[in-house]
Amino acid sequence: MLTCPQCEKQFVRRSRQRGVVEHLLSLFLLFPFRCQLCTQRFLAFSGTIHHVPIREYVRVPIRLPVSYGAVNASEQIRGEGMTLNLSIRGCRLESDPPLKPGAALRLELRTGDREGQIAIQSAVVRSVQDKRAGIEFLEIQKEDEIKLGRLKEKLLSAGAPAAQFTSSVQSGGGEASPA
Ligand SMILES: [Zn+2]
Repeated sequence: MLTCPQCEKQFVRRSRQRGVVEHLLSLFLLFPFRCQLCTQRFLAFSGTIHHVPIREYVRVPIRLPVSYGAVNASEQIRGEGMTLNLSIRGCRLESDPPLKPGAALRLELRTGDREGQIAIQSAVVRSVQDKRAGIEFLEIQKEDEIKLGRLKEKLLSAGAPAAQFTSSVQSGGGEASPA
């Protein structure tokens, strides 16, 4: 079982190789992995062929109320939405009216548990489908990132065994979400 060298948790996932050196190293079974909780990326030996996920971070299905506003105060964007899923680097957000692709947002997630509110300082709307927007988090303060990591760890521990992240070739999409 692979463990993150930084936070020592086992929620790691195969990451895509970057550059020539990493491609060469993979011939020697040294592959890049990404911690799903603290975002650390590291190389580790692995004798098994790991499915390379389309997304670097597993998105866990969860509905949390979110307030959002424009990063740029001159833009009149403000509203409320609900997450459909969440990772440490992004979420899918349902909102009405729908968001616009490319919009730069601040987000505040209300966890409803002891983590309280989690602020995302800046995020960008990557894709929009009806009222559902794919959002990538760009800037998070350390304190909020730690809260997000703890929340995600709780969700992953409850919903999916750690083995799922480091098991050999997975069938299906490789996402934690059954959808
Ligand atoms: Zn870690």
